[in-house]
Amino acid sequence: MTSLFEYAPAPESRSIVDIAPSYGLFIDGEFVDGTGESFKSVNPATEEVLTEVSAGSGADVDRAVAAARRAFTRVWGPMRPADRGKYLFRIARLLQERAREFAVLESLDNGKPIRESRDVDVPLAAAHFFYHAGWADKLDHAGLGPGPRPLGVAGQVIPWNFPLLMLAWKVAPALATGNTVVLKPAETTPLTALLFAEVCQQADLPPGVVNIVTGAGDTGRAVVEHGDVDKVAFTGSTEVGKSIARAVAGTRKSLTLELGGKAANIVFDDAPIDQAVEGIVQGIFFNQGHVCCAGSRLLVQESVHDEAIASLQRRIGTLRVGDPLDKNTDIGAINSAEQLARIRELSDVGEAEGAQRWQPACDLPDRGFWYPPTVFTDVSPAHRIAREEVFGPVLSVLTFRTPDEAVAKANNSTYGLSAGIWTEKGSRILKIANQLRAGVVWANTFNKFDPTSPFGGYKQSGYGREGGRHGLTGYLKGATHS
Ligand code: NAD
Ligand code: MN
Repeated sequence: MTSLFEYAPAPESRSIVDIAPSYGLFIDGEFVDGTGESFKSVNPATEEVLTEVSAGSGADVDRAVAAARRAFTRVWGPMRPADRGKYLFRIARLLQERAREFAVLESLDNGKPIRESRDVDVPLAAAHFFYHAGWADKLDHAGLGPGPRPLGVAGQVIPWNFPLLMLAWKVAPALATGNTVVLKPAETTPLTALLFAEVCQQADLPPGVVNIVTGAGDTGRAVVEHGDVDKVAFTGSTEVGKSIARAVAGTRKSLTLELGGKAANIVFDDAPIDQAVEGIVQGIFFNQGHVCCAGSRLLVQESVHDEAIASLQRRIGTLRVGDPLDKNTDIGAINSAEQLARIRELSDVGEAEGAQRWQPACDLPDRGFWYPPTVFTDVSPAHRIAREEVFGPVLSVLTFRTPDEAVAKANNSTYGLSAGIWTEKGSRILKIANQLRAGVVWANTFNKFDPTSPFGGYKQSGYGREGGRHGLTGYLKGATHS
């Protein structure tokens, strides 16, 4: 990419990872051959095939759920909570010890910049295990009602945008509350989940407490619909989330859904523009915009629109798109050809509907899946790019005149996951935040995550919370929080 600054390439070595030619499923503490087909996992930055992975069949899912049930009944359920905590601490420490390996593998399989996998995904995944390890023997004191008890076997299905981090968000609270797990990673990013299976072995976690069944949507459906699963936890698209809600309705299963978003990032005229621009960039270009809580709708007060957009464009001109393993890279590869096609299609629709597309001069690699950082101005609330989740590095800019108009436009969405507010006035932050129908509201920052803070949405962004005390209730019988 043409940039104001030139850097020598600074690639992280991939020699720390050791990828086998093929992988089985992790069931009952060991890697076993799947009975289904196998499929390839690809490096989206090069289209290189990294390895072959099993597509778990219904019979494989049966075995995994049976192993999880046995482990729940015989070992993990009866175990002293403090001992469960020790395993979680051990897993957390192993994630830290093997952090570089996880980061490089995540960037290879997913396409995200090493700067992010190294500084965000992996440290946060370890933090989730540390945080939940601490809860394991304190659940009676968590203010969740008397004697909270585990549900049993949790079936968990996760997406490809934060493969290891979403695993941690699912597995850590489930285990801390005494449940066992069958987890299905996304089909384009199974590798860090398989490395996590090795960590479970290394931690001497009792067999069957964590089972990893790779595969695509059919494997996910088999997990979700399995008759001996007590809890379903899903993160992914709203469309699949709805089909899961239908499948689970009328069963005794407990369900949490973390779905899409179309967050408003609201910039008032008194905001420090340079800081707001950093937050806008962080909000939409972090992880190539493959973020459910991405700040994909910029709402900027009319009086500062031109200044903010000029400053934003200057800043975007300095972003480096390219090799995910290069430590200078800001924007890596789009995770799959399918996702790239979806981003291109919606962007073309944006232009056809009358919005103005702006992209910086940008040399993209010849191989792999890439999309330049993109800003649409002159977007109206009715445009599809203002309503639908693009899940890519594409920002839609709308304007407002008054705070009331900002709130109305921000809430004019079928989603309600997150929002951002940029202003100098603390009183305005509190007032606006209280009016926003969004599960997470950031003020003068964006995309900040912490295991102590509950995360989740309203409306079609799903239900249930992950993280914090609230997140524990999704894995406990009869738990309530005040
Ligand atoms: P998806 O919902 O199809 O996939 C998410 C996970 O669900 C994957 O593990 C997949 O194998 C599994 N799955 C698919 N069908 C299933 C079924 N019927 N039952 C059970 N599990 C099933 O998402 P996608 O196709 O990878 O992406 C499509 C769009 O979804 C994206 O463009 C984006 O807008 C959105 N998305 C949102 C998130 C998020 O974090 N909210 C994550 C990924 C994708
Ligand atoms: Mn991959």
